[in-house]
Amino acid sequence: MLNIILFGPPGSGKGTHSIKLAEKMQLYHLSTGDIFRSEISNKTLLGIEAKQYIDKGALVPDDLVIKVLLSTLEKQEKAKGFIFDGFPRTLIQAQKLDEELNKKGIPIKLIISLEVNNKEIITRLVKRGLESGRSDDNEEIIKQRLAFYNKQTAPLLEYYSKQNKLYTIHGVGLIEEIFVDICKTINQQK
Ligand code: ADP
Repeated sequence: MLNIILFGPPGSGKGTHSIKLAEKMQLYHLSTGDIFRSEISNKTLLGIEAKQYIDKGALVPDDLVIKVLLSTLEKQEKAKGFIFDGFPRTLIQAQKLDEELNKKGIPIKLIISLEVNNKEIITRLVKRGLESGRSDDNEEIIKQRLAFYNKQTAPLLEYYSKQNKLYTIHGVGLIEEIFVDICKTINQQK
């Protein structure tokens, strides 16, 4: 069992690298953002509720996110491990995740933080918005998301650093080279 968190601001490449890692290491890719987008396109109650926050660039409330976590962990009981992408994003989420995984005896092994500067993030996300039509990838909302990240999510770096689980990777450059760095870091800790 191997549980890994891919951490970083919006647009840092968490999604891209999570997909690659999940495939290479046969782990389940748990992206709360992807789950919410799928709920939104299926017009479920959860999707309708989450959309109000996502469209503003705010965080979805913890109780909704935790519900998604618990039901996914339950559904994927047979997984060999998880890559958490975009989760946790608040201290409450991180504590709940620790509590659940510790109960099962499968704690987080490590967290990889992708470091990317704000200018690069804005360039990447504006480009993604134009290509994908993602409603929260426009400059005004991107700035909101970055503000929420700095205020509510970045403090988790200290939380995991205190647990000696934090590894930082430079996230600008060729995707393949960054991916090699990520894999090396994971293999050293396995
Ligand atoms: P990005 O990392 O580019 O912001 P995500 O797909 O991870 O993209 O998330 C998109 C949006 O979904 C976030 O801006 C937020 O509103 C919501 N969201 C996703 N995961 C969480 C979470 N763990 N807690 C709160 N809100 C979340």
